[in-house]
Amino acid sequence: MTDKSSIFVWIECQGEQIKPVSLEALHCGLQLSESSGQKVCAVLFCGSKVPDLSPLSDFAPHSLKVFSHGRWQDHNSQAVSSTFFKMIQEQSPRLILLPASNHGKELGALLSGLAQAPLASDCIEVECLGENDFKVKRPIYSGKAYASLALEGAGLHIITLRPNVFRGESGSATVLPEADINTTEPESLSLIVREVIKEAGKIDVTEARVVVSGGLGMQGPENFGLLEDLASVLGGTVGASRPVVDNGWRDYSNQVGQTGRSVSPDLYIACGISGAVQHIAGMSGSKCIVAINKDPNAAIFSVAQYGIVGDALEIVPLLTAEFKKILNG
Ligand SMILES: Cc1cc2nc3c(=O)[nH]c(=O)nc-3n(C[C@H](O)[C@H](O)[C@H](O)COP(=O)(O)OP(=O)(O)OC[C@H]3O[C@@H](n4cnc5c(N)ncnc54)[C@H](O)[C@@H]3O)c2cc1C
Repeated sequence: MTDKSSIFVWIECQGEQIKPVSLEALHCGLQLSESSGQKVCAVLFCGSKVPDLSPLSDFAPHSLKVFSHGRWQDHNSQAVSSTFFKMIQEQSPRLILLPASNHGKELGALLSGLAQAPLASDCIEVECLGENDFKVKRPIYSGKAYASLALEGAGLHIITLRPNVFRGESGSATVLPEADINTTEPESLSLIVREVIKEAGKIDVTEARVVVSGGLGMQGPENFGLLEDLASVLGGTVGASRPVVDNGWRDYSNQVGQTGRSVSPDLYIACGISGAVQHIAGMSGSKCIVAINKDPNAAIFSVAQYGIVGDALEIVPLLTAEFKKILNG
């Protein structure tokens, strides 16, 4: 094993907290480290207060680089990418792993341009084929097929990882290395003046382990409170079909499907959703699908492991009450 870290993992922060999707990227990095013998460096950009780093000890990297300054508080992709690029020039890593979150995808693309390095996005499998070669698998054509790509050669490769796919049990290495903290003011042409986060505090639909989605069968925006209640009991978030968003019942950030977001939660509950191919394209990677629909012939039942034929407006509150009892008991 060389002393230099060859695998960089970008750790995404939200406010003063490390986002759980970053731990998945770290877990993937450590698995690749075992097979390739390369060391993993976690790279984190945060405001002047360094967040609690202890969540990283579940998958302790070999080194930890922290850029801490008030101006990093709001994620500024341009500034982050130019500082990150300097590290790439100095340390010549082989691989950069990022979560395929909104910021991760943007940062991956910027780094790919700056470093003239190939980027494989939204990957669901990554395998190391030797010190410099990697094989990745990613969904294409709205999840109808998979592409296997070989990233070969001694140059840098950049990979973004689909959330909820690379989770792992806590590793055995639990001692975090001492963080190398850089407090230099970022150089940047642009300055974030204000960041407006819609539905602040809610879990992003792509990162949630449970998604309770509503379609036109929910009848109106006033009934989405029923889905909020169920999602909250299950520690999840609410998704929606496209017409629900087009009608203005929910924000676009909730939309699941071909022209919305792709989700891979442990549990996806589709309420009053017919199961059009464009919707299924965004949620067929869910580990368990439950469908509630009045129509026994609805297409959604063909992809569901569990189906309930009935009125979602009656069934969802019953499920919420039952889960509350079970989970509180
Ligand atoms: C290019 C393109 C891109 C698209 N992208 C997307 C996308 O990203 N995401 C997406 O979702 N769609 C997308 N669509 C639209 C898609 O084709 C469907 O029109 C849409 O998914 C249907 O939404 P829905 O299931 O909510 O509504 P509907 O198809 O109208 O289905 C409503 C369902 O609710 C059931 N229902 C009615 N009342 C109740 C009740 N009380 N209880 C239980 N069930 C009830 C009905 O039986 C029915 O199955 C796209 C379409 C195109 C052409």
